[in-house]
Amino acid sequence: MKDKADFNIISEILNLKKEKNAIILAHYYQTGDIQDIADFVGDSLALSQKAASNNADIILFAGVRFMAETAKILSPSKKVLLPDMDAGCSLADSCKEKDFKKFIEENTGRTVITYVNTNIEIKALSDIICTSSNAVQIIESLPPGEKILFGPDRNMGNYILSKTGRDMVVWNGSCHVHEEFSLEAILKIKDENPDAKIIVHPECELPVRLVADFIGSTSALLKFTKTDSARIYIVGTEPGIIHQMKKESPSKNFIPAPPKDSACGCSECNFMKLITVVKIYKCLRDEKPEILIDKNILRKAYTPIRRMMEISEKLGL
Ligand code: SF4
Repeated sequence: MKDKADFNIISEILNLKKEKNAIILAHYYQTGDIQDIADFVGDSLALSQKAASNNADIILFAGVRFMAETAKILSPSKKVLLPDMDAGCSLADSCKEKDFKKFIEENTGRTVITYVNTNIEIKALSDIICTSSNAVQIIESLPPGEKILFGPDRNMGNYILSKTGRDMVVWNGSCHVHEEFSLEAILKIKDENPDAKIIVHPECELPVRLVADFIGSTSALLKFTKTDSARIYIVGTEPGIIHQMKKESPSKNFIPAPPKDSACGCSECNFMKLITVVKIYKCLRDEKPEILIDKNILRKAYTPIRRMMEISEKLGL
């Protein structure tokens, strides 16, 4: 049970939200207490759509920096707040502007499709943005002969390649959380729970994907656990999503897939977990830290995101 201090701070946040016409958007990888005070909880695609279609004056983003930047790109006139500016992303940081520009130059004539998990400079260099929820469909919506350059996640890129068979070169980046799952430990849990289904995110490495019963984005994993008949799941993505899985399917059991190094606790995203309820309160109270981005780069980064939204809408995603 939450203590009195927790209740006070939560009611302060709710008051501030009302007073300032603010909304809190939270990613599935946030802790349960944050998900519970958010106006909307979702994956990158759903959060982008929400950021683009709301009447709030302030968007407080409980997530990491590239997500708050995406909200700012989609709602440039709104104040977008991120409670901790150190909430970065190892995947976004594995793709630096200078190196990615060179990669594009070395592969001219290809449509540049990047995953939303990039810094804004990379988005500005892209033709279309995608998320794990729509990547396969967006690529399949392009003419069959179109040559593609995909970045930054190599596992996601290889997964898309295996699904679409398209002519695609892939940037060699990765997310430290999704690459850390231990195949051995997952199989040990499966041995002990033969009825359990293994469900994983496409950012996981190939050996982990190969033993999975289902592969999908965080929202696809959530949907699967709601509609599937199994009672127990081994979950190969950031364990924050289990909060929603338990809420949606209270009678089922969810076991987080363990990382290779059991001492490091690295199946949790240390960047996501920098956001706390106290930081959200202070951020909303002081209206800072705020995401401030040069107008030119905002404009350049908007075009490929708009293409993603248009294609997603057309495909009914
Ligand atoms: S889980 Fe991986 S991709 Fe997601 S924010 Fe953390 S480091 Fe980035």
